[in-house]
Amino acid sequence: MPESNVTVLGAGVVGLTTAMLLSRTPDYSVTVVAKHMPGDYDIEYASPWAGANYLPVGKQGTASELYERNTWPELARLAADLPEAGVHFQDTVVYRRAKDVGTATGNWFAELLREDAWFADVVPNFKILPKSALPPGIDGGTAFTSVCVNTALYLPWLASQCLRYGVVLKRGVVAHVADAAGLHHSGQRADVVVNCTGLGARALGGVADAAVEPARGQIVLVRNEPGVMVSVSGTDDGEDEATYIMHRAAGGGTVLGGCLQKGSWESQPDPNLAVRIMRRAIALCPALVPAGAGIEALSIVRHGVGLRPLRRGGPRVEREGGAGNGGVQIVHNYGHGGYGYQSSYGTAQVAVRLVAEALESAKTKAHSIPI
Ligand code: FAD
Repeated sequence: MPESNVTVLGAGVVGLTTAMLLSRTPDYSVTVVAKHMPGDYDIEYASPWAGANYLPVGKQGTASELYERNTWPELARLAADLPEAGVHFQDTVVYRRAKDVGTATGNWFAELLREDAWFADVVPNFKILPKSALPPGIDGGTAFTSVCVNTALYLPWLASQCLRYGVVLKRGVVAHVADAAGLHHSGQRADVVVNCTGLGARALGGVADAAVEPARGQIVLVRNEPGVMVSVSGTDDGEDEATYIMHRAAGGGTVLGGCLQKGSWESQPDPNLAVRIMRRAIALCPALVPAGAGIEALSIVRHGVGLRPLRRGGPRVEREGGAGNGGVQIVHNYGHGGYGYQSSYGTAQVAVRLVAEALESAKTKAHSIPI
């Protein structure tokens, strides 16, 4: 018999991973409440738009490093053992241009580009590319084995794992984080709400976190196959544009990107940027199209725009202090920027520990004798 009711608010990769890990504790009865669910494509829902691959960007020695470090073993396990999750191993190359140091995309990739990267002993086959292997205009590079997630398969897989272990998924929109407690499927109030609202945390009552802002990403999903995942630290087309190519697992197509436009809420693809993305991708990876062909040889599935839920200072994974929120304990897990997949297990593991602490502290309070 479950003893504690937990509502997870949000059904992106962060909410679903958290709910899935919570559901492994038989003492918890878990409900996921969200405005958007797997299957939806919406500008308020970042997760379907992601590549998504594992290219660590967390600064060495920070919590973000730990989140990414602790996520790799799970993604690697899925790629090795569970093909139905839609995750596969991919060789990847990361190129560095000296002139991108200090730009928006150069800063984004700063940790990823290091030759002494902390993740050199996490991912398999990490190596520094010799100068002779670098294309023109590239000053350095590394190669390693990463994974690429087919988000169109992986999000439903997470949802079905939740269902298998008794989680109830339901649609709902809340104005205040504590209102989610009233939406637990048992009809009773939840003891704990886990806030996994991504960019929604900026406007959510009781949270209103102004440190969260959109970092717009535009992509072109094509049917062409590149043969390798490859990224470059910047372009000559603007300091918030980058080039990356990700080949998704299991027929998911190839994602061509992209950009990191901080503060932009624009939901529609910019056609000029789309042309630049496609041209740059072919220049970087001519194998995408037949020899000598241009962007007309790309077979386009869709153009897409997603808003990465970037948070100054990194993801917020913490328990709310104080006795506010009508007696409901709140655990936050949001603000995963451009690294929500590659830090999903690491942050969810911490959130699960914080839920246990919150429930423990509620019990202690209930049993303490007032003086
Ligand atoms: P979301 O997916 O946005 O989910 C938020 C959930 O909260 C939704 O269900 C929403 O409906 C719900 N919600 C919000 N407010 C409310 C409310 N008031 N009431 C009810 N429900 C609410 N990451 C990687 O790790 N690797 C990559 O290669 C990668 N590539 C990317 C490429 C692009 C183009 C983009 C846009 C992102 C990329 N990311 C990548 C980042 C990744 O997509 C995000 O970090 C991740 O999806 C965030 O997940 P989330 O669950 O926090 O947010």
